[in-house]
Formats: sequence, structure tokens, C-alpha cells
Amino acid sequence: LQRLRAKLNRGDSWLTYDLANLIPGGKIDENVLDELETRLITADVGVETTERILSGLRKQVARKELGNLDALLQALRTSLLSVLKPASVTLTIDRSITPFAILVVGVNGAGKTTTIGKLARRMKDHGLKVMLSAGDTFRAAAVEQLQVWGDRNGVPVIAQSAGTDPAAVAFDAMQAAKARGIDVLLADTAGRLHTQSNLMEELKKVKRVMGRVDGLAPHEVLLVLDASQGQNALQQARLFNEALGVTGVVLTKLDGTAKGGIVFALASELKLPIRFIGTGESAEDFDEFEPEAFVDALLK
Ligand code: GDP
Repeated sequence: LQRLRAKLNRGDSWLTYDLANLIPGGKIDENVLDELETRLITADVGVETTERILSGLRKQVARKELGNLDALLQALRTSLLSVLKPASVTLTIDRSITPFAILVVGVNGAGKTTTIGKLARRMKDHGLKVMLSAGDTFRAAAVEQLQVWGDRNGVPVIAQSAGTDPAAVAFDAMQAAKARGIDVLLADTAGRLHTQSNLMEELKKVKRVMGRVDGLAPHEVLLVLDASQGQNALQQARLFNEALGVTGVVLTKLDGTAKGGIVFALASELKLPIRFIGTGESAEDFDEFEPEAFVDALLK
């Protein structure tokens, strides 16, 4: 929690900064609620979700239940946690399925490759046999980067020459993983943004082809989103979810933004589980998403 706090805030919380001074005499009034509303919206919580939170708080103020700042923050904490409830489902690897196939998707630069590296390390540390598949066959650099993470973690990487059909790479990787008794296959994909319809068709095909090797694969469609992209990330989540049926989200670069609010927008609008959060570039900067720790870091 300490680490999360330090990383998320690097200073005062955007949510509670100087709030005490906005409450002359400690009385909770419309001014302080307006200020909270502005802060939530500015931090990408989203208008709809913010209104829902605020309307609850306003009712409590009207019923004179929130007599001071502590009571207000306690009510806010409860409300924020209830928004995050749908997002609080951890990823469970079914060991009876070999390989448990995780299709990792997201736009270029979101942190897909880094996330795959971090996941590989984490799973290996948990005693799982991991394999990576280099599905971004259009970018040689992406394949190399994945290979670096593979080497670093002593994990095999299935790659083919540039320009190969990504679905063929995924198919081969599924078969190789099956043959070698691999527990978890982490399949990287392309993420070029400017030709999005083609990208979605390509990813749908990759998904179908994985299913041809194992009827239920991929067992997780993991969407990687850059938290600093705010509402843009939410829009990406809608698109990927419509096309592929996302089953979990990794939110990266929470260290690089004061606006963790996108977490609430994702949970409340899309009801998608947030599996992990990234708070830096190295393998250790990666944690399971814990709503309580997250909210407490915001309210410190
Ligand atoms: P991809 O194009 O989606 O595969 O993205 P990459 O994995 O190559 O990541 C893009 C950049 O973001 C790289 O410089 C990463 O080191 C960096 N990055 C990834 N995750 C995080 C994170 O959680 N925090 C920070 N600060 N940087 C990150």
C-alpha cells in the first residue's frame, strides 16, 4: 500500500488535496461537493459515474449524516469502493487447461509487450511453465522486444519472419505450447491504431484460430490500456470489447498520471475486471488490482 501510495500520488492526493481548507468551520456544504465533483471529472472518472457518486453524497448531506470532513471522506470511500466492485475479480489460471491461453490486445504504446514480460516473470515465479508468442509480425522491433523479455525470464518465445500472418503465429504457438505441456501461453498482438477496422478483423481471426486448437481458447482476452490516456482509453476499451469480448484489463502507467480516475469509469461503464496495474517499466512495477488499496491511496 505504501508503495502504491507513493507511486500513485507522488505528493498530495488529487482527490483530497487542501479539502480541509475549503470547509470553513468544518461544515460540509454545496461548495465542497462542487469541488469534489470537479476533481472527479477532471481525473477522468467520467460525468455519469461522478454524478452517481455525488447524488449519493448530496442525499447524505441533506439527511445531515455527514457532519464533518472525516464523515464525508468515509462516505466517499464507501461510494468509490462500490463503484469498483465489478472490477475486483482476479485472474485465475486453470491449471487443468494446457495451455491456458491469454490473448493480449491493446493499441501500440499502451504497454502490451512490457505487460507480457511482467506477467511472464510473475507466472514463472509462481511455478508455471510460460511461453510467449510474437504476434505483432509487422513490427520487427516488437518481436525483438518480446524476445528480450523472454530471454530475461528464461521463457521460450515463438516467433516467425516479418510479415507472416499473425493468425498463423498464434496457431503454431498454441500447438507448440500444447506439445510442450506449457501452462500459460501469452500471445502478443499488433496494435496499430490508424487502421483500426483492419486491426480488429485481424485480431478476431487470431482469436478464432486459437479456438481451432482448443475450443475454449483464448481463455482470457486481456486488454492493456494506458491510464494516462484518460477518456481515450475508455473509448479504446469500448472498441476492443465490442470486437473481441474483453475478459480482463491491465491498466499501465499509473505512475505517470495523477489521474487514476479511469479505473472508476472502466468499472462502472464496462464492468470489466481490472486484473493488474502497472506502475513503472520494470518487472516489479506490477500488482494485482486491489480496490481498497487503490481507493485508500487516493484518499490518504
Ligand atoms: P506496446 O507497444 O503496447 O507493446 O507497448 P510497450 O510495452 O512497448 O510499452 C511502451 C512504453 O511504455 C515502453 O517505453 C515501456 O517501458 C513503457 N511502459 C509500459 N508499462 C509502463 C508502466 O506501467 N509505467 C511506465 N512508466 N511505463 C510503462
